[in-house]
Amino acid sequence: MSHHLSCRISDSLWQALRAEADRTGHSMSHIVQQALSSSLDLEHHSIFQVSTTGAIVKGVFDGCTTVGDLKSHGDFGVGTFENLDGEMMMLDGRCYQAVADGITAEANDSWQVPFATVTRFRADLTEQIDGIDDLDSLQNRLDALRPSDNLFVGIRLDGVFDRVDMRSACKALPGEGLVEATSHQSEFGFDRIEGTVVGFWTPAFAKALNVAGYHLHFISADRTKGGHLLGVKAGKLTASLHLETDFHVSIPETESFLRADLQDDPSKALDVAEKGFVRDR
Ligand SMILES: [Zn+2]
Repeated sequence: MSHHLSCRISDSLWQALRAEADRTGHSMSHIVQQALSSSLDLEHHSIFQVSTTGAIVKGVFDGCTTVGDLKSHGDFGVGTFENLDGEMMMLDGRCYQAVADGITAEANDSWQVPFATVTRFRADLTEQIDGIDDLDSLQNRLDALRPSDNLFVGIRLDGVFDRVDMRSACKALPGEGLVEATSHQSEFGFDRIEGTVVGFWTPAFAKALNVAGYHLHFISADRTKGGHLLGVKAGKLTASLHLETDFHVSIPETESFLRADLQDDPSKALDVAEKGFVRDR
């Protein structure tokens, strides 16, 4: 079955389409179909990210996109807000902000975002996992489900958690980088709480762009509690993995990003700020 598509396009797009048809000898219909299927297929397994963790480590916390714009690129993901004002969880097309003590509410579409990673989440595989005593055992269970260390993976875990320990970044002071800013973060935990873990596995080869390994946030089923996950204990959870084969990075054109010195490897700072290494929690 085929369909007839009629739509208006700009003159420049029209000229480019004609030029491509002349160059290749393909019909315009063929070129449009190719372009559409490629762009729509890509979206199924692609991550869209604004800025880099390297920039976040250096304290580039100026907003470079909005929550509303992020939603046009994904319905699931994690990030933060302008000036490192809390943790972001995007789930089922809605975006939430967790602040001090894990207090969570829906974010406004106009809010500015300095860093976020989102995708259109579709589970490629779903499994029950159990016996999760801590973050390490959770990561071991997820390791066993991932087909490769070299694919980005969107990770969603649903269920009732015996315990979740989290933190929320509190606004950075002027001039602070990520490590200093998260040294005055809010830390909190909840027992017997139903909810969803939202996050990603990032391959080591992308360590200058995102947090290598697992980066997980949590949001409660009633959407009132959340944060960046530091510890977890659970009996049985449903784990859904979305395998990602495209990674798009939107480079901020803000003054602070363009002038930042981003030559260093941010991994050590991220271990301290995001995983709680070295610094005593
Ligand atoms: Zn986080």
